[in-house]
Amino acid sequence: MRYLIVTLAAFCSSAAIAQSEAEPIDPAVSVSADRLEADLERLVAFSTRHTMSAQDDPERGIGAAVDWGADSFRAISADCGNCLEVVLPERVVQGRRIPTPTRLRNAVAIQRGTERPNEVVIVQGHIDSRVSDVMDFTSDAPGANDDGSGTALVIEAARVLSKQKYAATIVYALLSGEEQGLYGGQLMADYAEEQGWTVKAVLNNDIVGGSCGSDGYCDDTHVRVFSEGPRADLTDDIRAAQRRNGGENDSPSRNLSRWLDTIADEYPGELDVRQIWRTDRMGRGGDQIPFLDKGYPAVRFSVAVEDYDHQHQDLREEEGVTYGDTTDEMDFGYLAKVTRLNVRALDRLANAPMPVAPTIDAAVRTDTALSWQTIAGADAYCVRVRRTDEAAWRASVPAGTAGQDWSDCVVTSEQLAGEKVDFIVPLRGDDWIFGVQALNELEASPVASAVPAGSFAPIPKEQGDSE
Ligand SMILES: [Zn+2]
Repeated sequence: MRYLIVTLAAFCSSAAIAQSEAEPIDPAVSVSADRLEADLERLVAFSTRHTMSAQDDPERGIGAAVDWGADSFRAISADCGNCLEVVLPERVVQGRRIPTPTRLRNAVAIQRGTERPNEVVIVQGHIDSRVSDVMDFTSDAPGANDDGSGTALVIEAARVLSKQKYAATIVYALLSGEEQGLYGGQLMADYAEEQGWTVKAVLNNDIVGGSCGSDGYCDDTHVRVFSEGPRADLTDDIRAAQRRNGGENDSPSRNLSRWLDTIADEYPGELDVRQIWRTDRMGRGGDQIPFLDKGYPAVRFSVAVEDYDHQHQDLREEEGVTYGDTTDEMDFGYLAKVTRLNVRALDRLANAPMPVAPTIDAAVRTDTALSWQTIAGADAYCVRVRRTDEAAWRASVPAGTAGQDWSDCVVTSEQLAGEKVDFIVPLRGDDWIFGVQALNELEASPVASAVPAGSFAPIPKEQGDSE
């Protein structure tokens, strides 16, 4: 093994290796609340974006809205030397909430990575809307917050991030058919699989532009990030291994959520992440779910406080209460904050290496052996630990079992690509959860946990045993 153990514990506490060089620019400072508002007004002006509304009316309906989304991406691309490929994956869908065969299209922009184009980060929102009756495709359904807000966020993220170059690919996706049964999310997840993408993270933004609830309670300082516990693609064998060895709280999506929380914490005065450790809200769903089903890491961003009078409602007034998902209920300053957090996360994820897939041996021994394959784009790795009942990864290294010092970081040379790293931690493995962060000179990846199915890759269908 040709690796070097660095004795400088502070080495990877500061996220990146070469902070000493020029301060990285923060693309999020260019996010504009005014542009978000203008895009949202334009979306609402399509009157309804119901999935079964008109496909061919230039002014009203889902067809015109999706065309506008694609045109918005094309205009952004024209502004960055054609740095975006705009595609409109489509299929005909039918189901419980779509009684007749219906054309479904997503508007998608792809900003190819310069070094590892197959490694992909996806930011998405759904462009379709609804009113009280999910089957009503003729009434006005402005869908301002749900999910004009996520749609506007995705477009603004494309505007801002297309000014930069990234090692990995960023995909900006406007999805249709969410309200009818996550059809656009399924189409996008299938598209990712068909392209053979290595999906590093999916940031699904759905209802991200309001700060007060129907009961008058307001919170404009938090955003909720939903992440699944046991991953959706567990096989019976791996589920059994998790029951015995732990790992139910260490899915890649959960670690993506933890990582997002630490990113948000670096910007005081912006939003704090309220991690919600469930797949979605009670009894409800979103377009992160088709990705989770395939084993791709995915989280949902949503407002801290939902306003049930102003989502999925017919436009009306009853006993002095106004109902409907209209622009006047929005908080564009808040939407700008959620957009900045997404932009910062995308910027870092597109620079960071892919997380590794560490394995562990801690049975009947006083220390713990971790090993993993090195990964393209990483120059170094940091081992992270937390007690089994701790929520977050520790920032600093605890003393070893017998009080020994140890370093949390391992450095490998670039020539080690494809080779295995072995690393001994002087801690009794039964009492800790271990994970590994992959680093390069710019960024640190989310932690991948050394638990059954802790890897960010989908679980191979035919391979039942834990990694
Ligand atoms: Zn929604």
